[in-house]
Amino acid sequence: MAKYVYSFGEGKAEGNGGMKEELGGKGAGLAEMTNAGLPVPPGFTISTQTCREYYKAGNRVPAEVDQQMQQALQQLQRAAGQKLGDESNPLLVSVRSGAKFSMPGMMDTILNLGLNDRTVEGLARRTTNPRFAYDSDRRLIQMFGSVVLEIPKPAFEAVFDGKKKAKKVRLDTELTAADLKAVIEDYKKVVKHHAHINFPQDSLEQLTMARDAVFRSWFNDRAQHYRRMNNISDELGTAVNVQAMVFGNLGDTSGTGVGFTRNPATGDKIFYGEFLMNAQGEDVVAGIRTPVPIAELHKLMPEVYEQLREITTRLERHYRDMQDFEFTIQDGRLYMLQTRNGKRTGRAALKVATDMVAEGLITKQEALFRVDANQLYELLFPRFDPKQLKSRAPLASGLPASPGAAVGKIVFTAEAAVAWSRAKKGPVILVRGETTPEDIHGMEVAAGILTSRGGMTSHAAVVTRGMGKCCVAGASSITVEEHATTLTAGGKRFKEGDWISIDGSTGNVYEGQVPTMEADPNDPLLLNFMSWAEPHRKLRVRANADVPRDAKAARAFGAEGIGLCRTEHMFFGEGKIEHMRAMILAPDEKQRRAALKKLLPLQRRDFAGIFEAMDGYPVTIRTLDPPLHEFLPQREEIMVDLERLQLAKGAAKRTATTAIRKKYADYAVKGAPFGEKELQRLLARVQELHELNPMLGLRGCRLGILHPEITEMQARAIFEAAVQVIKKGKKVLPEVMIPLVATPKELAMQAAIVRKVADEVIAAAKIELPYLVGTMIELPRAALVAGDIAQEAQFFSFGTNDLTQTTYGFSRDDIGKILPMYLAEGILKQDPFASLDQAGVGQLVQMATASGRKTRPDLKVGICGEHGGDPASINFFHRTGLNYVSCSPYRVLTARLAAAQAGAGGEGGRTA
Ligand code: ADP
Ligand code: MG
Ligand code: MG
Repeated sequence: MAKYVYSFGEGKAEGNGGMKEELGGKGAGLAEMTNAGLPVPPGFTISTQTCREYYKAGNRVPAEVDQQMQQALQQLQRAAGQKLGDESNPLLVSVRSGAKFSMPGMMDTILNLGLNDRTVEGLARRTTNPRFAYDSDRRLIQMFGSVVLEIPKPAFEAVFDGKKKAKKVRLDTELTAADLKAVIEDYKKVVKHHAHINFPQDSLEQLTMARDAVFRSWFNDRAQHYRRMNNISDELGTAVNVQAMVFGNLGDTSGTGVGFTRNPATGDKIFYGEFLMNAQGEDVVAGIRTPVPIAELHKLMPEVYEQLREITTRLERHYRDMQDFEFTIQDGRLYMLQTRNGKRTGRAALKVATDMVAEGLITKQEALFRVDANQLYELLFPRFDPKQLKSRAPLASGLPASPGAAVGKIVFTAEAAVAWSRAKKGPVILVRGETTPEDIHGMEVAAGILTSRGGMTSHAAVVTRGMGKCCVAGASSITVEEHATTLTAGGKRFKEGDWISIDGSTGNVYEGQVPTMEADPNDPLLLNFMSWAEPHRKLRVRANADVPRDAKAARAFGAEGIGLCRTEHMFFGEGKIEHMRAMILAPDEKQRRAALKKLLPLQRRDFAGIFEAMDGYPVTIRTLDPPLHEFLPQREEIMVDLERLQLAKGAAKRTATTAIRKKYADYAVKGAPFGEKELQRLLARVQELHELNPMLGLRGCRLGILHPEITEMQARAIFEAAVQVIKKGKKVLPEVMIPLVATPKELAMQAAIVRKVADEVIAAAKIELPYLVGTMIELPRAALVAGDIAQEAQFFSFGTNDLTQTTYGFSRDDIGKILPMYLAEGILKQDPFASLDQAGVGQLVQMATASGRKTRPDLKVGICGEHGGDPASINFFHRTGLNYVSCSPYRVLTARLAAAQAGAGGEGGRTA
């Protein structure tokens, strides 16, 4: 018979810390702490397998589960010396979710389960604290009502707030036992009204209903969203932990708190935490009251504080990683309720890993896996220019919850954040009293988060640290009302759309837009850490950079060349596009060549800048790729303009003519005015170029084959620039890359042009200049005939964006319409444009690499799609034996670490 339920209590547990998969992180932690003899309230864990079977069977647990739960409950009752549903000494339990990877606040927890009309009286008598008993009961009805019965929270809040208003009190704690009793009666009416049942009085029934609700919460919207963002599989399922309650809200010698063994924002080795006296668990994390720093506990209850320090230090040594823990003090006695490896910022991850190596806790090799390669990205975030800050007084200040600097326009709701960023109305700062898991989508698009309540472990703080997003929490001097439309800070009023700047490293909030400064890639902590990583790396890391500025940034982060230099912008920029347009509109080759001649020196200058920045490192330049219509106005727009011009009469005609002349100035032949006839001619050319599927149309090498003179001009610009830079004493390694090749012949034709020009230029300059000509592999056909293509190609670079588009037949620009549905249905596990589809596209990559190298053993193989900066994809490219990956400059550090992690035999750590 399968084992579904695992007990823990009285110093021993059936499970242990190694069983995260089965017991979830929380269950495994509780078992491990119990086995270690720590004070943990007894309980049992229902396995994640149960959850998977629950879903498979259409939302029912296997029959054995109820049976095993009964047994575990008996054991729990013995350990606690209390019985569920007992009228004089009732056992109360919490029912908590807990998956393999922690998903803070994403699923549901129910506290005080076991209370009903009779047991609440028993609890009141036993604790001689009726107020506490009724408060626990109303919390249960509220949590159970919203989680299990899915009654909207405001229905309960209305009752509760109504009571406070009627009693003219501000704080929850000011309501008396009698008031709470009345609230309970009204809550029960809310339940009856919304759920059409009476609030269940049978404790066992409460328990089974709560268990199933926790299983269901695995698929609630925010949990799904969180998993998607963090690449966690939907198939894992959650465990359910049932645990005897301990009460932090019994009075002045009780309390509850959370903490970290080190500072999760900076990584400094400082015991770190917050607590609230006379409070129950949720109060601390939910940001309802701003909690007190843990140092205060030392003053209030020195013995408990010392015991907590001792226990958590032990936990850190035991797990050999920074711990994030929860505790409750009931009547002066300490209980541990959770421990897990703490989530941390990128900087903290670096610092903790480095310190733990120095402390002898972990090896250098282990340290590599303690930093999530994606998080290194955060270290490159800009910060506020310290010079600028000197002259500005902060409007307000809060807790530095998640580092970085964010500048944006104020919005007050997650919905507004999403709407503003969809409309591209500039970066936004989401300002809330406190955030809740329902705000996730807004937090995701915001540049930063500012809250007026809540501490360093509030929802806003924890979630933003996970996202690597700047956050200032608990800025209590600002006021944001519920349903706010204004923010008051420093005596000033701000409304939606006003600019503010927040500093997540100091907690300061500033008016307006404070200028920022780039990060320092020579940070000693980072350099030292990377020096441990580098020896493990086999893949080279290059950057995708089109302009010298990006090339320089990439070099600073350690890029070993450019894997993709797109030349589009060299046709688009100011002073360039008119030549390009003239070239496209030219009636014959002669005029086309004349226009190209004007582009030659401009492109030469651009290439020279990049070669100089990359002194000694290879630069892969792709010849012109996009369809020509992108350089011309939209067909429909010209049609409308033309019609307007034709219909206008008299004065209107003159105004229209002037407007057209101005708008289309770029298209006028020098000196000649641009009028109706010219507009007609332009329309005709645009019609000619019009394609139903431009992505599959006249672009890539097809352009160069139709107009060889374009390729010729680009080759000339590349090699003349190379010669110039070499003459300045620098080393240049050009690699010319032909895009969108499907057949060996296409490449051969284009390569012949490039080589002819290159050899001419090199011979004329009388210098040595080794160069390569190769191709992008971005069409499935190219991957299939890669062996033949390698006859001509000296290198391959997988253009995995187009290769994904053409393999899946998904448009990268429109996949947003399909993706949410496909992820929800489990058809796709993740966005194939963000992380390589290893089973499909990956197979093409493997095949093409193998057959290419069979033809040409020294074939250089790289990748230059978005996937070049994604750790999981990088791991795959390492295993496939590629020579390099190329990614955006700001992902270079991430790619270097991910490649080192792959070389050291694993994938980068996700803090579980
Ligand atoms: P989350 O994963 O969102 O932190 P938890 O299941 O850990 O949810 O619980 C939410 C809150 O309830 C935490 O503050 C926790 O400490 C508290 N809590 C959970 N179980 C108990 C219990 N048995 N006794 C007292 N407090 C509890
Ligand atoms: Mg918790
Ligand atoms: Mg492409």
